[in-house]
Amino acid sequence: MGDFNNYEAVIGLEVHTQLLTKTKMFCSCPNIFGKEPNSAVCPVCLGLPGALPVINLEGVRLAVKAALALNIGINKKSLFARKNYFYPDLPKGYQISQYLDPVSSDGYLSVKTDGTEKKIRINRLHIEEDAGKLIHAGSRSYVDLNRAGTPLVEIVSEPDLSSAAEAVEYLKNLREILVYLEVSDGNMEEGSFRCDANVSVRRKGEDKLGTRAEIKNVNSFKFVQKAIEYEIERQIEITLAGGKVVQETRLFDSKTNTTRPMRGKEEAHDYRYFEEPDLPPLILDDEFIGEVKKSITELPRAKREKYVSKYKLTEYDAEALTKDKEIARYFEDLIDKNNGRVEIKKLANWVVNDLLFGLKSITSIGKPANKEVIEKAISELTHVGADNFLELILEVESGNINKNTGNTVLLEMLKDPNKRAAEIIKEENLAQVSDDKGIEEVISRVLSENPKELEAYFAGKDKLFGFFVGEVMKKSKGKANPKKVNEMLRGYLESLKKGGN
Ligand code: ADP
Ligand code: MG
Ligand code: ZN
Repeated sequence: MGDFNNYEAVIGLEVHTQLLTKTKMFCSCPNIFGKEPNSAVCPVCLGLPGALPVINLEGVRLAVKAALALNIGINKKSLFARKNYFYPDLPKGYQISQYLDPVSSDGYLSVKTDGTEKKIRINRLHIEEDAGKLIHAGSRSYVDLNRAGTPLVEIVSEPDLSSAAEAVEYLKNLREILVYLEVSDGNMEEGSFRCDANVSVRRKGEDKLGTRAEIKNVNSFKFVQKAIEYEIERQIEITLAGGKVVQETRLFDSKTNTTRPMRGKEEAHDYRYFEEPDLPPLILDDEFIGEVKKSITELPRAKREKYVSKYKLTEYDAEALTKDKEIARYFEDLIDKNNGRVEIKKLANWVVNDLLFGLKSITSIGKPANKEVIEKAISELTHVGADNFLELILEVESGNINKNTGNTVLLEMLKDPNKRAAEIIKEENLAQVSDDKGIEEVISRVLSENPKELEAYFAGKDKLFGFFVGEVMKKSKGKANPKKVNEMLRGYLESLKKGGN
C-alpha cells in the first residue's frame, strides 16, 4: 500500500457566479439581493404555465466578457437546455442552462503557485439561471423566489489542480478578474460567487483519475482550503486502509472542518437535458464579440506587472495598489494629473503609506481587509479627489510644508473632503509653523542634489554659498525668509563640515 506520500490529489472546480445585470436572465424582474421575499417575481420566474422566457442581452454580454478575459473560446452558436429536477425552490421543475453547446469552451487561467506559473485549463463557461432559496426556520421551511432566474455563469475547470492551496489561488484569481471586470460582485457570503470542489486521489505516476467526491457550495476561501485538505486526507486514508472512495456529493461543516455525505451515491445523475423549446439558439456575431472585447479593461495581473516593470514599484506596493480596482483607478488618475512632476515611486508611497494608512486610522480599520471597512475607506478616498491629494503632495515635495505637517493636512482632508490642501495649510497657519523644519529640509535636499558644488564649496569656493541660497529660495517658492535661509544654511554647512572632518 505505501504511505501518504505515494498519493497525490486531483482537483477540479465548478464555480457559479451571479452576473451584475439589472434584471434577471429570462424576465424583466430586478436582479436584487436581500429584499422582501417574493417581491421580485413574475409569471416567467415563477414558472407559471404559458409564460415565455426572453434572453437578457446584458447577461450574455457579461458572460462573453468573462469568457474572453479567461481566454475561453466563444462559440458563435450556442443552445439553451432544460436541466430537469424537482426541488421546492424550482417551480418550473427545470433550470434553464446550457449543456451540449455552451456559449464558450476551452480556455485557461494562469495561476502562480510556489513561484511557478501553471495553466489551469477551463473546460467551459456557460450561462444559466439560479434557483430560488429555501429558508428554514424552526420546524417550517419557506420558499423565496426572488433569486429564481438570477443570471449565472458556471465556470468548469479541468482536473488540473493538485493541492488545496492551488485551488484557492485559482479561485482568488478568478474572482479578482470577475470583480475587476464588473461581471460579478464576487460576494461569497451572499452566494454570488460559490464553488463546488471535486476531489480525488491517485497513486503518484498513475494516469487514470481516481473516483471523486464533490463538495458542494463552499462559500469562503478558507473553507475551500479546509474542505479540500480534509477530503484529500480522508480519501488517502480510505485507500491506504484498502477501501474504496465512493462517488458522492458531500457537504463541508465549518464547525468541525470536515466533510460528510449529503446525497447518496450518484450514478451519473440524470437531468434529462433537452433543448429549451421556448428559446432560440443564441447567435453571436463578430461585431458583438468585438464590442465586448473592447470593453475589457486592463486586468489586475497585467496592472501589477506594469507597476513593477514600468513604474519600478515593489511587488508589495503593486499588490496593495491593484487589490482593489478603485484604488488602482485612483492611483492612475494621480499619475495622469501629476504629469511627471513627482516621481511615481513617491506617489505610490503617498497612496500606500499615507493615504491608505490615513484612511485606516480614521475609519479605524487597524486590522486587515474587513470588506465593509475597506469599502467605506474607498468611498472616502474617492471623495478626496486625486487633484486635491496631488496638491498636498506637491506642497510637501516643494518643501512648503514638511512631511509630518503633510500627514496632518491629509487627515483634515479625509475628515472634510471638500477642503483643499492649500486652504487647510493657510487656515491653520501650517506653513508658518513648519517653516524652520521646512527650510532645513529644502537645504538638505539642495545640498544632496548638488554634491559637486558642495565639494567645491568645502574646497574653498565661498562664492557658491550664494548659489545654494538661490536654490533653496527657488525650491521653497520664495516663501522662505531669506535671512533665515542664510542663517540656517550657514549653520547647516558648519555642522556638515564638522561632521565630515
Ligand atoms: P458534473 O459534476 O456535473 O457531473 P463533470 O463530469 O463535468 O460534471 O465534472 C465536473 C468537475 O469535476 C470538473 O471540474 C472536473 O474537472 C472535475 N472532475 C472530474 N473528474 C474528476 C476526478 N476524477 N477528480 C477530480 N476532479 C474531477
Ligand atoms: Mg458537478
Ligand atoms: Zn420574473
